[in-house]
Amino acid sequence: MHRQLKLAPPKSPFILGSVMALALTLPAVSQPYQNYQQNQPSMPANGIPANLTPQQKYLRDVFIFKKLGLVDELEKQGKRVQARAILEELATLDPNPYSADVHGLLGLACYKLGNNPEAIKHYQISLQYEKGKKLDGYWNIALAYMTMSDYENATLWCKKLLAKNPPSDLRRQAERFLNEADEERNIRQDALNQGITGAEPGGDYLAFLQSTKEANRWPQAKMPLKVFIEDDRHVPGFRKEFVSIFLNCLEVWTKASGNRITFQLVSGLDQADIHVIYTANVDDIARKPGMAPLEQGLATIATRGFDGPYGAIEEAKIQLLVHKPSSNKGLTDDEMKGVSLHEIGHALGLSGHSPNDADIMHFMMSFRQLPALTRRDKLTISRIYQDMPATSQTASSNYQPSDMGVAGHLQPQFTPQQPPAPEQPQLQQQPQYQQSNQFQPSQQYQYQQPNQYQH
Ligand SMILES: [Zn+2]
Repeated sequence: MHRQLKLAPPKSPFILGSVMALALTLPAVSQPYQNYQQNQPSMPANGIPANLTPQQKYLRDVFIFKKLGLVDELEKQGKRVQARAILEELATLDPNPYSADVHGLLGLACYKLGNNPEAIKHYQISLQYEKGKKLDGYWNIALAYMTMSDYENATLWCKKLLAKNPPSDLRRQAERFLNEADEERNIRQDALNQGITGAEPGGDYLAFLQSTKEANRWPQAKMPLKVFIEDDRHVPGFRKEFVSIFLNCLEVWTKASGNRITFQLVSGLDQADIHVIYTANVDDIARKPGMAPLEQGLATIATRGFDGPYGAIEEAKIQLLVHKPSSNKGLTDDEMKGVSLHEIGHALGLSGHSPNDADIMHFMMSFRQLPALTRRDKLTISRIYQDMPATSQTASSNYQPSDMGVAGHLQPQFTPQQPPAPEQPQLQQQPQYQQSNQFQPSQQYQYQQPNQYQH
């Protein structure tokens, strides 16, 4: 059921009917809710409860707090639709101390379910309740617009964020997007001027890359390409799984090229065509000196002359950051796979980016990307190498990519506090307030990593 939410908070502090309905649909009826029911305000004729007493407000807040914990649980289990349904019910209890959190989470849930316009609406409501205290919502709105390829609005919201003097990690994310978007916009405009959109569904983006001279390839004499992976066990945050992920990604590209691109691991840098380095130092992957070093990886190639219509690649270097650019948080296997595929794509000659945000070679990770090549990625690489002979080397892998989920949305900085007990009332039963001890969240709400750009 889709609930229409209004930007302005509803006048009534709460709507009892929704709470009742919620209780019926939730797996566990919480003690606080039962307490709340027993203490619910009497219903006036119009069906809207009279103003709540402090005690009733407290019980309501405890109820919401508990449900947010349940939402967190459901999210962890991947039950996004159920989680969103609960959040939509909680949203009917606006305004309350959790309204900003509820709408922030609703925005995120809608984003994950692919409904960006709805996500943007909830993020905006959340911002109204935040009253400028937290700024993640600005970035999340920008990111939802990016996912819709609406770079104008994404730019607008990044600028709104920057005008608020955000903390440095948010600021750098926004600045980086503005730089990247500018660059991408210019590239697209150049391509459009040449009559190339690069976005034909089902097609490839080779013409798009060629329009900016960003299509290169390894000459056939170089096959198999010699790959040297540095022993990076000393790098903090490095996991040995990263190497097997990388090897798997090489196989993925071999297969995509129709076995025209093949690889061989070598044990010395002097024999290597492709040098792979894992690093924990963000400066290593800064694309331009002085530019905020926030990218997840960096691939550089050296070309000499031409091989057919393409620049002839002589050597390549791939540097992969083992943690997020703006924090020390490590990468998951799927994240590392996405970044590895992207950087290898650059090292194989796809030097530019795809204009389609589902492609692994898009300039930023997006909701629509899986850590896998799209048909367009595969078509593009196979077209570049199509006149080379295929080898009998077969790519095999039992690595199953799983849904990488959302890259990019900042979960609202959400560590809800349990509601403070109201002033001890002179009343009756003592109380339910004692129960506040039970409402410790089992763990903090999970945060999404910030958006990662790849280069
Ligand atoms: Zn890139």
